[in-house]
Amino acid sequence: MEFRNFIGGEWRETAAASANINPSDISDVIGYAAESDAAEIDHAVGAAKAAAVSWSASTPQQRFDVLDFIGSELLARKDELGRLLAREEGKTLAEGIAETARAGQIFKFFAGEALRGGGEAMASVRPGVGVEITRSPVGVVGLITPWNFPMAIPAWKTAPALAYGNAVVLKPAELTPGCAHALAEIIARSGLPDGVFNLVLGKGKVTGARLVEHRDTDAISFTGSAETGSEIAATCGRLRKKLQMEMGGKNPMVVLDDADLDLAVEACLNGAFYSTGQRCTASSRLIVAGGIHDRFVASLTGRIAALRVGNALDRATEIGPVVDGRQLDKDLIYLDIAAKEGGQVFGGQTLQRTTNGFFLAPALITETNSGMRINQEEVFGPIASVIRVEDYEEALQVANDTPFGLSAGICTGSLKHATHFKANAEAGMVMVNLPTAGVDYHVPFGGTKGSSFGGREQGAHAKEFYSKIKTSYTFA
Ligand code: NDP
Repeated sequence: MEFRNFIGGEWRETAAASANINPSDISDVIGYAAESDAAEIDHAVGAAKAAAVSWSASTPQQRFDVLDFIGSELLARKDELGRLLAREEGKTLAEGIAETARAGQIFKFFAGEALRGGGEAMASVRPGVGVEITRSPVGVVGLITPWNFPMAIPAWKTAPALAYGNAVVLKPAELTPGCAHALAEIIARSGLPDGVFNLVLGKGKVTGARLVEHRDTDAISFTGSAETGSEIAATCGRLRKKLQMEMGGKNPMVVLDDADLDLAVEACLNGAFYSTGQRCTASSRLIVAGGIHDRFVASLTGRIAALRVGNALDRATEIGPVVDGRQLDKDLIYLDIAAKEGGQVFGGQTLQRTTNGFFLAPALITETNSGMRINQEEVFGPIASVIRVEDYEEALQVANDTPFGLSAGICTGSLKHATHFKANAEAGMVMVNLPTAGVDYHVPFGGTKGSSFGGREQGAHAKEFYSKIKTSYTFA
């Protein structure tokens, strides 16, 4: 299978290509993906710029029809595309199928948003003058996406970009070209005019960097690591370019003495380890009150030991492989750091399976404190640590002791503590008696502090980033 660029309505090959490897079985080459140079980005941005004006004038019905077509096909093919996702990224089949369905629902939601456009009209403070506040597209939007949600994140950036009338250049992660290619292949048949959506595959440092600095990209939406985000922010700041970023997390899950133990263990198991812990919203810090701590750890370690780690395409698998060798090395380094800092590591050994993949037993690190590196730096693997606290007040203080602020959870039977936590957790999303990961597609997604920058993604609030406001005064 060849994964090519899609520019100006044409599929294009590049001189170089890189192998796309299945992390559950490194002998399985899924395909070869274009390794683009900066000139391919220039070409794609040129095509987007040429198409942007007429798409900005498209009717709500045209936009609805295109987005609805894409959403319907994603939903109809969720099993097939979910399997590709699991094979390429290492999520389990069930997770891959659910993510593909979610991508379809996102397109359906923004199909509706295209119809709900609208503006505001009001009287001026001056007699005889009317005021209108309208929204118009931003222009050419560059989208840069990570590997960990290879279908959903391209969907939740592309769908609002198109719904609000923008032209798009998508640069997906190098590790997951197949999902982006499959999405582009559907978009190519959706009735969208040539050049409105363009896909360029290749290395971020070459293609992504070029997309950010290109003088004809009007806005950049990025999801990925804090390090890359800082580089992109510096360039966009210099160029005064509109920017939205979603970066990492070090998400706390507080478990109070009055929590339902089974519910808390289930929420932590799901939040910390599902999707191999490779979620920006993963519960990587479990902050547990002293009265429930020992029962909680005993129950959670029992559940962790029973998790079936294996080939993502095997229906019995509950935890798939780590995405690649580099991420596996990073996970192992952090386990070592945690042990040297005095943490007690349960699990965390590499595993052999019938296929040669990057399998890691989920790990729980107990006896940690908030200052340790394992509790301050994002790992992005199936690894969580436990911090023992005295009471709710200390739990909240530890929960907020992080440079990140994406998602925060609390398990408690106390309405008083849940209400206080919702108001005072320094995070963009707060979960009560629910895992920190797992969000709805029709409401805003994003964080505070070092996790996010710019307007929110998803839901109707996405229009803040993907459109610009004009205020018109008329004296008649
Ligand atoms: P990276 O930051 O390495 O990559 C993200 C994207 O940026 C990729 O497409 C990458 O391309 C591209 N890129 C890399 N370097 C540059 C550059 N200099 N200029 C422009 N683009 C560049 O992150 P990962 O893909 O490795 O994803 C893991 C990280 O992302 C984790 O830290 C995680 O927390 C974070 N993340 C945050 C989410 C959120 O919503 N808050 C969601 C998902 C992940 P290439 O792949 O070719 O290097």
